[in-house]
Amino acid sequence: MNTNAVIAIHGGAGTILRASMSASAEADYHAALHAVLSAGQRVLADGGSALDAVSEAVRLLEDCPLFNAGRGAVYTAAGTHELDAAIMDGSTLDAGAICCVTRVRNPILAARRVLERSEHVLFTGEGAEAFAAAQGLEFVEPEYFHTEARHRQWQLARGQQRAMLDHDGATLASKNDDPTPHEPIDPNRKFGTVGAVALDQRGHVAAATSTGGVTNKQVGRVGDTPLIGAGCYADDATCAVSTTGSGEMFMRMVAAYDVAAQMAYRNVSLEEAAHDVVMNRLPKIDGRGGLVAVDARGNVTLPFNTEGMYRGFARIGETPVTAIYR
Ligand code: ASP
Repeated sequence: MNTNAVIAIHGGAGTILRASMSASAEADYHAALHAVLSAGQRVLADGGSALDAVSEAVRLLEDCPLFNAGRGAVYTAAGTHELDAAIMDGSTLDAGAICCVTRVRNPILAARRVLERSEHVLFTGEGAEAFAAAQGLEFVEPEYFHTEARHRQWQLARGQQRAMLDHDGATLASKNDDPTPHEPIDPNRKFGTVGAVALDQRGHVAAATSTGGVTNKQVGRVGDTPLIGAGCYADDATCAVSTTGSGEMFMRMVAAYDVAAQMAYRNVSLEEAAHDVVMNRLPKIDGRGGLVAVDARGNVTLPFNTEGMYRGFARIGETPVTAIYR
């Protein structure tokens, strides 16, 4: 039995400024992260698999409108929602992912079914929805994903004719709006993608990531989140990684896999590998964001190169730790 079982989560990174966040919004984020970590911790304490723990954590984050995944997803340039998700099991290297779905309530559950019940790894658009429907997963009307905050963020991004990270949009919105502080909806510098990594009591790791993408993205745009190796990776031999940030740069750096590869080929620690990817390699191509990662020994690291990242981790029997700013 591995007594170091642990779960770590993120709710996106970006320009999350203390000044643009009200005390009550801050408390809401901490409470949401805490609740999700407690749920993941329970799965692990009950002897559940790392795969079950990350699925459950990401499902809960998708259902929480504070984050850019599932309910609360950002808007595309056409005013729609297109959701991406991926999951990977470090004990078998099995993986499943879906992208550009518009009506699947919990994209992470669809990704999990791909992992378990399909010979393929990644489904897109209509095919992904047909697969999810055949698996009996819950569908919702597109309005289900709507939140006022993300709608306002989209309108700002539209005005600026560019795509932006969710949390950056939050900060921008808070500047353009009334002077009262509220949650950071600056469409320029915030990424609200969610993710989880875990190590279970049997010593296996898993990773899961889910997103609405970036605000005002073109229809059909796919980021790093559903791409195995870019936004999500897990291998018991090295680590499990879930990323958030400027997806195009994370794809070009194959960021999640690079953490695992550095551990395997350079023989460096989890901490050192993750730090190198986030603090040295991504910034070379203007890659902004962060990641959460665990290894099979129970080490945890949560580096980011932006002003903030919603994050936390919890070990069995210990109080979950949550944080937002640097
Ligand atoms: N990485 C995500 C994407 O590019 C965005 C995010 O992390 O918020 O779709």
